[in-house]
Amino acid sequence: MSPPERLVLTVALDFDGVTYPFTRAVSAWAAETGRAELPAEPDAWAYWREAGLDDNEWAELLGAFADDDGYRREAPYPEALEGMNGLFDAGCDLLGVTSRPPSRVVHTSTFGWVADWMLPLRAVLIGPNAKLEAECDLVVDDDPEVLAALDDLGEAAGLLLDRPWNREADGPRVGWGELPAAVAVLADAVAGVPPSERKWALVDAVADFFCEAPVQDW
Ligand SMILES: [Mg+2]
Repeated sequence: MSPPERLVLTVALDFDGVTYPFTRAVSAWAAETGRAELPAEPDAWAYWREAGLDDNEWAELLGAFADDDGYRREAPYPEALEGMNGLFDAGCDLLGVTSRPPSRVVHTSTFGWVADWMLPLRAVLIGPNAKLEAECDLVVDDDPEVLAALDDLGEAAGLLLDRPWNREADGPRVGWGELPAAVAVLADAVAGVPPSERKWALVDAVADFFCEAPVQDW
């Protein structure tokens, strides 16, 4: 029996800030419950500190948010829903990955949300190491630290999804509108590359895809 034909690329998509409008969900929930005033579209990573919460208070707030089914309350970003379906229809194998704490309520909300929106994900991995351990070619994330960790330790290349809260980070970034075209170019770049060389071929292809015209040094 011959092996199944290889899909274009296996792409792991982060949830919060990539497919799920996490900041909007937390902001609305925190206002409804009278817990805090938080921006729906923050322009900094640790934005809860600007709102007067320390890191422990933020963690406690997120626990209560999760317990209240907060990870299931918002629709996906429309462009993410369209982009996910486009990638799937183009032959990509899609995974969902999230560092949400793997409690039963988080599992229920996360898997429930994927079902609510009929998202074309083959598998969902939840937990602090999910993004590093996912067997995939590319991880799309909005957290620059995740991309740095992938470079050092991960199985896959990373791509930073452009959001207002990560604009201070260096390096290439992509919006949902450009992602399907970027994935197609990357898939072509690594076609036929042996699995053992695939990650670094992809890292190079990401750099090539985003490189600007070289400055001529006269
Ligand atoms: Mg995220």
